[in-house]
Amino acid sequence: MNTKVKHWLEDETIDIFLGYKIVDGHPLPHCFTKERIEELEDLIVGQARYSLEKIATHITTVNPDIKIGMLARDCNQRALNVLFIWNQLNPENIETININCCPSNLKEHGDCSYLEPETAGVYKKQVGVDNNLQPEDVEKHDQPQRLTRWMYEFQKCIKCYGCRNICPVCFCTECSLEHKELVDPGTLPPEIPIFHLVRAVHMAGRCIDCGLCEDACPVDIPLRLLYRKVNEIVVNVFDYQTGASAQQSPFNILGDTVTLEPKPLESVETQN
Ligand code: SF4
Ligand code: SF4
Ligand code: SF4
Repeated sequence: MNTKVKHWLEDETIDIFLGYKIVDGHPLPHCFTKERIEELEDLIVGQARYSLEKIATHITTVNPDIKIGMLARDCNQRALNVLFIWNQLNPENIETININCCPSNLKEHGDCSYLEPETAGVYKKQVGVDNNLQPEDVEKHDQPQRLTRWMYEFQKCIKCYGCRNICPVCFCTECSLEHKELVDPGTLPPEIPIFHLVRAVHMAGRCIDCGLCEDACPVDIPLRLLYRKVNEIVVNVFDYQTGASAQQSPFNILGDTVTLEPKPLESVETQN
């Protein structure tokens, strides 16, 4: 891998490479360059996982023509597909080295072993009651019970914006979560459930289920579950699998390019 990156930098296939290196014992994202090519000896994969594509998006905002190489797990690739569709990155300027870490695929990416403490052996922080829930666990409860549980979870929020800041597909220059007519910026904790529902709506057809928001949340709100529920509706109604392809655009899904019959809303009205 390091040799390939070295060649890419030397023959100018790419200008920079986004990977990881150990800093003070921790694997951190790092930008490798031709000028400091000796640093490639420190390039690692390990268990590091970060939205490198988010860094690429920021760099591209400043330098639209820069050619970027990056490590890409399955979730990174799904995020890249969304960013290509939303014109945040140009696929012609991105090279990836595949480092898939888990057996998940686009239809079953809920299986990501990296995120499952039982299989990965990773300690998952817990605040209050166990919230390591699967969608089927939620279905066992009626709507009032689900509302009570979600409100319990939301009231823990300290409005740190960690979920938005880590999210590879939260790229808006003006974020609704800081728009005073939607979410009062002076209120802490944030108004619930509006703060979380605004973001949940935005994640419909956009969230690629990487789970980084949930990892980042200091109070352990099951955010990944919330966005999975939102995206169930997108799949059921539009048959749109977010991040599965850089070709299938949510903007023409009902237009001429893709002809899909939307399923009746009744089929999802009992879900939340
Ligand atoms: S799981 Fe969270 S961080 Fe990942 S894409 Fe969805 S909302 Fe963003
Ligand atoms: S929360 Fe919504 S408005 Fe804010 S960056 Fe994410 S998608 Fe954009
Ligand atoms: S990361 Fe958690 S605590 Fe921070 S704003 Fe998001 S939901 Fe709230």
